[in-house]
Amino acid sequence: MPDLPEKLPEPLNEDGRVERLKDILIPECIKQEYSSERWVRIPEEVRELYIRAGRPRPLHRAVGLEKMLKTPARLYYKREDLSPTGSHKVNTALAQVYYAAESGYTRVVTETGAGQWGTAVAYAASLMGLKSTIYWVREAYEWKPDRRRFMKLYGAEVLASPSDKTEFGKSILKHDPNHEGTLGIAISEAAEDALKNPDTIYPVGSVLNYVLMHQTIIGLEVIKQLELIGEVPDIMIGCLGGGSNFGGFTLPMIGKVLRKEIDKKIRFLAAQSEAAPNLVKGTYSYDFPDTAKILPKIKGYTLTHSFKMPSIWAEGLRYHMASPIISYLKHVGLVEAVAYPVDEKAVFEAARMFIQAEGFLPAPESSYAIRAMIDEALKAKEGNKEKIIVANISGHGFLDLEAYSKLLNI
Ligand SMILES: *Cc1c(COP(=O)(O)O)cnc(C)c1O
Repeated sequence: MPDLPEKLPEPLNEDGRVERLKDILIPECIKQEYSSERWVRIPEEVRELYIRAGRPRPLHRAVGLEKMLKTPARLYYKREDLSPTGSHKVNTALAQVYYAAESGYTRVVTETGAGQWGTAVAYAASLMGLKSTIYWVREAYEWKPDRRRFMKLYGAEVLASPSDKTEFGKSILKHDPNHEGTLGIAISEAAEDALKNPDTIYPVGSVLNYVLMHQTIIGLEVIKQLELIGEVPDIMIGCLGGGSNFGGFTLPMIGKVLRKEIDKKIRFLAAQSEAAPNLVKGTYSYDFPDTAKILPKIKGYTLTHSFKMPSIWAEGLRYHMASPIISYLKHVGLVEAVAYPVDEKAVFEAARMFIQAEGFLPAPESSYAIRAMIDEALKAKEGNKEKIIVANISGHGFLDLEAYSKLLNI
């Protein structure tokens, strides 16, 4: 934020919504949300938790994929899939639950779509001895019994949303007892629960500035790892739903670019689904990040909070709005975005190539970044260019095998 050419647009304080945040969100995180400090210290306890969660995570050269594609490009990928719960989301879950415990809270509540965020919060809460309740979009809750069991093993209470635990959930169930749920509804249920219970606070999984800041541990490690091997990337690629893994991966490098510490033009490319092409097709304007309009409006690329998004297997990319900081960087032309078709065939084919060439099973979401990396590597081949392409693998797909089975007929 201190390196941006102008001040990032702030949340709108309509009807006192900004003041109300202090009853929902973790106090230290609100401070970080509005901070324009270049560095915020990682508490020693959180650094230890990161070590316990397997940080630093390796950066691999994709030699197998380079050979398979016969590309002159050098391909690298960051291993955020090497996470106890399966995704990068532990990076911020650990920090947020730590700050929650520091402030005396004994319970955390949150929503989850694909299930990755809920698992990360359940994990962090269990390590730190807090109770956790996860409101999980019913549609995904139904088809992912293994991830449900995973969260419960950590001791979490896991509820299909809409649930009958909140007034908002009940009001929706009254009209439609079989409502499939949406991320917005689940967010609203979690926010209502946190507002009602003084021992409870609400960690947020993506979009907000402080979440992206916690995730910059990814990009800071990548900068050091690239320095060790003397590489400067031409392209950095991440998948993008709300923007947390993409932001965490790219923002430290974008900071260097803005401070003119790099004399190479680096492209920053976000890979999305046409089911939720917020950066590609949205408008840059103020909108609610949740359908129940509890949180204040923020400025970002949005498809509007009531936009109906078709179902995809990469559920984690299905979000109507991109993070304010990434949206701003797209607005000024520093970040680019590409969206892949809703049938996901091209993306799952890319995942198959990746697993056969590299051996690791990516999350369906991460496969969007892999698709974009492969496309860029093939362009480099056409132009016979030695491009250096670095992608972030946001998670593994061990609990998404049903998606692979359906899409790849295996
Ligand atoms: C949540 C998630 C995403 C999308 O969220 P962002 O905030 O855009 O990073 C991508 N990949 C995985 C594995 C996820 O769990």
